[in-house]
Amino acid sequence: MAMNGYEGGLKMIEELTTNAEQTQDEFWDFRRAAKLMSVTAEYQKKGALYDTLSQSPTMRHFGDINQAGKRMELMFARPEIETPSGLKAASVLTSVYNESKFRTILPKLYTSPIETIFCPDPNQGLYCQLLFGLIQRDEVLRVGSLFASTVLRGIKFLENHWQELSYDIKTGRLSDWITDSGCRNAASLVMKPNPEQADLIENISNCKSWEGIVTKLWPKARYISCVCTGVMRQYIAELEFYCRGLPLVSTFYACSEALCGINLEPLCKPCDVSYTFLPNMAYFEFLPVENDHDESIEMKRNDEDTELVDLVNVKVGQCYELVVSTCAGLYRYKVGDVLMVSGFYNNAPQFQFVERKNVILNVDQEKTSETDLFKAVIEAKALLDPLGFILTEYTSYVDTSSAPGHYVLFWEIKGKEGKHCKELDPKIMVECCTRMEESLHYTYKIYRKRNIIAALETRVVKQGSFEALMDYYVSKGTSLSQYKKPNCIKSEEALKILDSRVIGKYFSPKSPL
Ligand code: AMP
Repeated sequence: MAMNGYEGGLKMIEELTTNAEQTQDEFWDFRRAAKLMSVTAEYQKKGALYDTLSQSPTMRHFGDINQAGKRMELMFARPEIETPSGLKAASVLTSVYNESKFRTILPKLYTSPIETIFCPDPNQGLYCQLLFGLIQRDEVLRVGSLFASTVLRGIKFLENHWQELSYDIKTGRLSDWITDSGCRNAASLVMKPNPEQADLIENISNCKSWEGIVTKLWPKARYISCVCTGVMRQYIAELEFYCRGLPLVSTFYACSEALCGINLEPLCKPCDVSYTFLPNMAYFEFLPVENDHDESIEMKRNDEDTELVDLVNVKVGQCYELVVSTCAGLYRYKVGDVLMVSGFYNNAPQFQFVERKNVILNVDQEKTSETDLFKAVIEAKALLDPLGFILTEYTSYVDTSSAPGHYVLFWEIKGKEGKHCKELDPKIMVECCTRMEESLHYTYKIYRKRNIIAALETRVVKQGSFEALMDYYVSKGTSLSQYKKPNCIKSEEALKILDSRVIGKYFSPKSPL
């Protein structure tokens, strides 16, 4: 089938989704091991098809940006490794970036040279990708990255480096701390002194509020492309602030294990996004997930007792854990994501992402999920918004160093318009702790009342703490492109990073029941 342009893509989506039962056996070969994927021609073929299909709906709404301009996309590869038998293995994204087809289209479609994507130091790579994005700012029609957190990381990095970046553009010389030879070579090919462009960027950036900064720096951008659902939804408010005026578009739902679904309604609000599953990408099955307490969801105690449901038999409104089988050897592999069926496109089910399956906080079998915590945080942060403060990041852990154990929330707070988070009234923070406890599920509240769980604690950390956390995980081998901040901290070292940056501790004063 001809796949040129969005028409071809849309037609194919129609065909793939018309009879899910017939096409679900047509899965293709691609390989994966843990978060590392060995590279095969079949995988590349599948990835190319998925890429075309996932772009078709955005082309319908925003035009064919491939013909009219470029994407400023933050992309980070990880080094390939060799398996004991000598095969090369790489993360999914790295294998995509390694494809000759990608390397061929890169200079035409993207602002970032390949050397900046493969730069071993992600900070040098990021600096250069922003630099190239600014140099070509008049051509940029789409700004983005795989996940919302990486886009925000880029914007914050820009906030700290815009003077240096505009100086480099003014002089046509790359800063000395960029020592990577690939980046330096790539820069030497395009950089020349451009004082007018530098002055423009300086004038735009040198303002008190960075609201809508992305729209100002890249005036032709039509949308922001990044996953904003699931754990990424916590970044929506901040992204909307920086990208005011541009739609945030989550184009696909995929994981290293399988390419799964695409968003057919790019203009819908991030909180309403559904992904239509493409039945030829893998063999999809689903484990029903039941309500355990309150509105929170959780798997039945014993997965063996639960019947797997085929893609064609899922029911609207029901939550399921995704299970995939692939030619790469994954057989009934639990991805660990919980999805809810929101409807159908032709015969293909559409899913909303609900949460990662794992219970994240548990002192005594009360089992608080990612969604439970998210809802509680949303309720509490509403107290900060009218006072001119934004909760920019949060994570949690269970502190059992004293009995009974208690929940600890790490919060990074930013003041609007030059306010410092030290100005925040401690009484409000205590109120936030109370509000979170009140918003948690029934079992939690009962356990608090019976003193099985001690008072919830919020530790406010200084600005940049979550960037330091990201740096830590990246230094341990996580790809900056695929980084997802843990909603619950398990590693001692990561905990030390946050604990060493605490500037205030607050406790809930009373039990919520
Ligand atoms: P990775 O295998 O590291 O690329 O991460 C894949 C995981 O990212 C999935 O299993 C999901 O938990 C999450 N993810 C990917 N796409 C989305 C999406 N569109 N919405 C929510 N979460 C997503």
